[in-house]
Amino acid sequence: MSKLNYTPVDEIDKIHAELSNTFKSGKVQPIAYRKYVLLQLGYLLKDNVSKFEEVLMADLGKPKVEVTLTEIGPSISEIKDTYSNVEKWAKPEKPGFSINYTPMRRVIYKQGKGIVLIISPFNYPINMSFGPIASAIAAGNTVVFKPSEQTPATSSLFAELFAKYVDPSVICVVNGGVAETSKLLEHPWGHILFTGSGRVGRIIASAAGKTLTPVTLELGGKSPVFVDPKCDLSMAARRIFWGKNLNAGQSCVAPDYILVPKDFQNKFIEALKAANDAFYPTPEAEANSIGRLVSPQAYKRLSNLLKSTKGTIAFGGRLDEATKYIQPTVVRDVSFDDPLMSEELFGPVLPIVPVDDIDEVIKFVNAHDHPLALYVFSQDNEVKTKIINSTQSGAICMNETMTHVGAEGLPFGGVGPSGSGHHNGKFGFDTFTHTRASLDPPGWLDMILSSRYPPYTDKKLKSISWLFPKLPARPTGPPAPMEGRSFTKWFLFALATIFAGLLTKRKILV
Ligand code: NAD
Repeated sequence: MSKLNYTPVDEIDKIHAELSNTFKSGKVQPIAYRKYVLLQLGYLLKDNVSKFEEVLMADLGKPKVEVTLTEIGPSISEIKDTYSNVEKWAKPEKPGFSINYTPMRRVIYKQGKGIVLIISPFNYPINMSFGPIASAIAAGNTVVFKPSEQTPATSSLFAELFAKYVDPSVICVVNGGVAETSKLLEHPWGHILFTGSGRVGRIIASAAGKTLTPVTLELGGKSPVFVDPKCDLSMAARRIFWGKNLNAGQSCVAPDYILVPKDFQNKFIEALKAANDAFYPTPEAEANSIGRLVSPQAYKRLSNLLKSTKGTIAFGGRLDEATKYIQPTVVRDVSFDDPLMSEELFGPVLPIVPVDDIDEVIKFVNAHDHPLALYVFSQDNEVKTKIINSTQSGAICMNETMTHVGAEGLPFGGVGPSGSGHHNGKFGFDTFTHTRASLDPPGWLDMILSSRYPPYTDKKLKSISWLFPKLPARPTGPPAPMEGRSFTKWFLFALATIFAGLLTKRKILV
C-alpha cells in the first residue's frame, strides 16, 4: 500500500488564509483566468491517464475500461461542458418584466462565494472531485480539495499533479484523515461540498453550522430496484448486473437490492445468470473485470453480511480475503429484515427480495430513508407513473442504472438522508455561485413612491395599497380532481366546463 503524506495540521490555517487572500485579490474573477484553470484541470487528467490507471489499480483494482468510462471520461466531459458554458452561466441576468420593479433596474450578478472546501470519498476519486472542482472554479472561487485517505496512491498523485498544473494558491490539495478534516472544518468557508457517507455527513453539517457555512451533502444509502414482469427482461438483467458490479459495487447509486414479484423471481435470476455468464465467461475475465474492495475493513464488513444472510446464494459467493475480492453474488429469497437489508451494501452482492405487488414496493420504499436513486424496470407507463408519484428519491431512473449521474442537463443529488443540494454542469456552477441581487432605481421614481415616506396619512395608505396585486377570486369548493387525467380527458373536461359556464352565464375561473 502506498504511503500518503498528510498535510501538517498546523499548515492548514496558513493555507486557508492564503486561498482567502487569492480570492479577495480578484485573481480568479476574470472568466479568461477561470477558463485557463479549467483547461489545466482537463490536461492534468489527459496527460496523466496511465498514471491514474496505475494508482486506481493499486487503490481499487479498477480495470482500465472503468477508469476511462467512470473516472476520466466523465470528468473531462464535465470540464469541457463547463469550459464551453462558463461565459453564459456567469453573465449577469435581468429578471422578467414587472410593472413595479422594471424601472428599478434589477440585475442578478453571479459571483464566487469565496474559498470553498470540497471533501471527496474514496470510491470515484476523480469523478467525484473534478466535476465539483471545475464548477467551483468556473463560479470564481478558490478551492481546498480534500481527497480520501482511503485511496493513498491516487490522493498522493493528486497532490503532485495539482501543484504542477494549477497555482496552489488557487486550488490546494490537503491530504489527511479525521484530524486534518476536522481542522479544515474549524474555518468558515464560502461553501462546503461533501461527498461521502451519511455518518460523516452529519459531522460535516454540524461543524458547518458552527461557522454558518452553506453545505451541499452528496450522500448515499440503499438504492432499490423494482423489476416489473412487464419489462425487457434480458436488458433489465444486463443493465442491473452491470450497474451493481461496476467499481466492485462501490457506487453511491449502485442498485443495492431488487424488489421483484414472487412468481417472477426465478425468471429474473435466470436472466441475471445469463448476464453473469456473458460478462464473465471465464474466471480470468471475471478477475480482470471486477475491482477490489477498498480496504480489509470494507471486505470484512461485506463478507460478514453475506455470511449472515438467511437468503440463498443463487450464484457467485466466492470470497478472497487476501485480495479483498468478492465475486459478483446474487442472493435470493431475502426478507425485508435480513442482514443484507440493514445497511448500504457497497459491494458486488445483490439481494433479491420477493414482494406481493407494486403496492408493497411503494410501502417499503416509503418506510425507509429516501434513496439517492430509485430504479424501475418496466415497459408499463402506469407502473412508472405510479412509482414516480408515490415515492421520493434523489433521482428516479427507468430501465437503466447509474447513467443518470452524469447525464448532461440533469442535476445530481439526494433528498433527505441521501443528501441535499446538487451538482453536475450548470447545477454545480449554481451551487458555488452567489446570486447577488442588485437594484439601482432612478431618482424620478420618488414621484411615484413618495407615499412610502412619513408622515403617514390615510391618503398615502390608499395609494400604497394600490401597488399590490389582488388575489384571484376565492375558491368556491374543493379543487377539481384533476390528478391522473389524461390530456384528452383534461381537454374534454375543460371544454365541458367552459361550455357549461357559458350556458349558465356564470363567471368562469381559469
Ligand atoms: P466517508 O464518509 O467515510 O468519507 C468521505 C470523506 O470524509 C473522506 O474524505 C474522509 O477523509 C472524510 N472523513 C471521514 N471521517 C471523517 C470525520 N470523522 N470527520 C471529518 N471528515 C471525515 O465516505 P467513503 O467511505 O469515502 O465513501 C463512501 C460513501 O460515500 C458511501 O456511503 C457512498 O454512498 C457515498 N458516496 C456518495 C456519492 C454521491 O455523490 N452522493 C458519491 C460517492 C460516494
